[in-house]
Amino acid sequence: MGKDKMYLRAYGKINLALDVLRRREDGYHDVKMIMQTVGIYDGIEFCKTDTGKIEIESNAYYVPTDENNLIYKAVKLLFDEFNIKSGVHINLKKFIPVAAGMAGGSTDAAATLFAINKMYDLGLSMKKLMEYGVKLGADVPYCLMRGTALSEGIGEKLKRLPDMVQCPVLIAKPPISVSTKYVYENLHIETVKDHPDIDYMIDAIKEQNLDKIASLMGNVLETVTVNKYPEINNIKQKMIENGAINSIMSGSGPTVFGLFRNEEDAYKAKEAVKASGLARQVYVTDMFLPKLGR
Ligand code: ATP
Repeated sequence: MGKDKMYLRAYGKINLALDVLRRREDGYHDVKMIMQTVGIYDGIEFCKTDTGKIEIESNAYYVPTDENNLIYKAVKLLFDEFNIKSGVHINLKKFIPVAAGMAGGSTDAAATLFAINKMYDLGLSMKKLMEYGVKLGADVPYCLMRGTALSEGIGEKLKRLPDMVQCPVLIAKPPISVSTKYVYENLHIETVKDHPDIDYMIDAIKEQNLDKIASLMGNVLETVTVNKYPEINNIKQKMIENGAINSIMSGSGPTVFGLFRNEEDAYKAKEAVKASGLARQVYVTDMFLPKLGR
């Protein structure tokens, strides 16, 4: 039996390492990234209605609530495919920083596919949901999978890795919005000399060696985003001065994250970043590991 109502947490991600291998003929880029879900989430409530409409309300005025919202697109994709005439009302409580490199929209879309599948008894396997997901965005299949994963191709080729070492993570989003499109369009990957060693990081995760993992963190997209917004480097520096084992930008930015050995250091660094005025959205969280449940 399907359900009339459902509430889900849609978790954000960081990239422990992000490498770009090449620009493809079709304009996309082949990437090689280590993805990690973190504990910051959007809360999404889904309710069946008899209006025949997809209605979205949100606490965040800066997120579209019309057909441009990825939640809307995800519902429409499955409703069209399965000829569902129902209405659905969605309440999105947005906590993941927007346009930040934390896959906020993609994770909302993933949670929506998951919810619609359950509520309307569609019986779709995870593999099938991921195939629908990639039509909405390259990161959506990963957001369905969650946890620690290697992501290749345009981001849709996924391989589960052993769980990342649990540790406090400090997230700081400076008050700038960065479009992923802009960053990739301005990336000159052939000129980038410093590439993170992803295979070596996979070994470090297998060994559960936090110091080694932290020392291998790297993101080639910093060559574009930090060039435009040097304050990103100042946040990284502030985190490291205040006890982060290492700190880099996530995705196409501008969010910066740091890994810490203990919560005390993470909270101390949080206060330092806030006091510097470099970022207002600053949160201490940790690694989300899927066995903890949705
Ligand atoms: P990624 O890490 O995948 O590049 P991002 O963090 O850079 O994602 P999002 O937070 O997904 O970017 O938002 C990018 C844009 O997508 C926003 O400016 C917003 O207009 C639009 N958008 C559509 N649906 C959503 C949603 N559910 N949540 C947030 N933004 C959304």
